[in-house]
Amino acid sequence: MFRADLHTHTNCSDGTDDPLALLQLAHQVGLQGLSITDHDTIEAYTPELFAKAAELDIRILPGIELSTELNQQSVHLLAYRIDLSAPLLHRHLAEMQERRRERNRGIVQKLAQRKIAITEEELYEYALKTRAKRTVGRPHIAQLLVQKGYVTSAYEAFERYLKEGASCYTCGLKYTPQETIELIHKIGGKAVLAHPHFLRKGAFLRQLLSLPFDGIECHYGNLHKELEKPWLKIAKEKNWIATGGSDYHGSVKPQIPLGCSWVSEPIFTLLTE
Ligand code: AMP
Ligand code: ZN
Ligand code: FE
Ligand code: FE
Repeated sequence: MFRADLHTHTNCSDGTDDPLALLQLAHQVGLQGLSITDHDTIEAYTPELFAKAAELDIRILPGIELSTELNQQSVHLLAYRIDLSAPLLHRHLAEMQERRRERNRGIVQKLAQRKIAITEEELYEYALKTRAKRTVGRPHIAQLLVQKGYVTSAYEAFERYLKEGASCYTCGLKYTPQETIELIHKIGGKAVLAHPHFLRKGAFLRQLLSLPFDGIECHYGNLHKELEKPWLKIAKEKNWIATGGSDYHGSVKPQIPLGCSWVSEPIFTLLTE
């Protein structure tokens, strides 16, 4: 049976697997379709990746997970069937990387006010050790805090300092979901609301659901089938594509195996049309 995991991360962002290793793993677990959706980068999509995918007979759907902010909350959008060579996309990603550097600086400064001494230099040295070019963000800061003994787990780092509303959370990624949907549409992609299960309910969610998405991520990670139902209903009502994927990150999230959520061939095909 055809299965495609449409939400995965590599060491081009905050995952741990090299893109080619991820592809090999996809083959091992019997996936026939895959989208690598690193945060704010398409570095994984090299000619070698496409060549190896063809060799392994795995269909690749070019994708990305774009960070946006609405009312100081982070909201993740997945974009599929993106034109990897679109100048508009490249400009957007270059700007996002710059915003991220500024935001990382802001977080480091807030941590310093709490006598947590990590430097930007240390952060990038730590994060870029395993890959020269990658998106650096809160997960790397959390891991560095563990390594330096300020917290005992990345989870604790998020809870105490980094999650929304915590003392060192910093905004500044600039683009709203609406602006980002417009960008995705301009480059011919499909805009999908990622893991809606975790969004703040009420007016915030209603505002998001009023935007012109093409799809919504209903099947996600290890979440119980029961929790998918409300989102499948929304997808049906709005005639949105019900997408899904594991949000695999490799060894930093060992509880989430590749392929634990997936979509069938008709859904995969809808996203490529
Ligand atoms: P950033 O892109 O820098 O805003 O970081 C967001 C990423 O951090 C998400 O994609 C998750 O992989 C990770 N993350 C968010 N919240 C938590 C948490 N509570 N514990 C561990 N990782 C988290
Ligand atoms: Zn991530
Ligand atoms: Fe996400
Ligand atoms: Fe993700």
